[in-house]
Amino acid sequence: MLPPYERVPKQPLKERGKDLVKASKDALKGNRVSKELYMARLDECYQCPYMQKRMGTCRVCSCVMKVKALAPSVSCPINKWSAANS
Ligand code: SF4
Repeated sequence: MLPPYERVPKQPLKERGKDLVKASKDALKGNRVSKELYMARLDECYQCPYMQKRMGTCRVCSCVMKVKALAPSVSCPINKWSAANS
């Protein structure tokens, strides 16, 4: 069941910005996670109650998960999966 909107643990804007910078640096350097890790991250997200499946975005961080899950240096804001290089 979807949690009520007001109980979604929104990631602070400053943290979202940091993740965006990390993911952009990974993209510019051509860094990607392995296919196995990418699929494992997406599996976790698509079972998560905070995933908006029609949009493919996370309610906590507002990221497009098919894009965010590619970046090795970012992690789930509620620690369901971690950065690949931590
Ligand atoms: S990033 Fe974390 S909180 Fe967001 S949908 Fe994925 S598992 Fe859920």
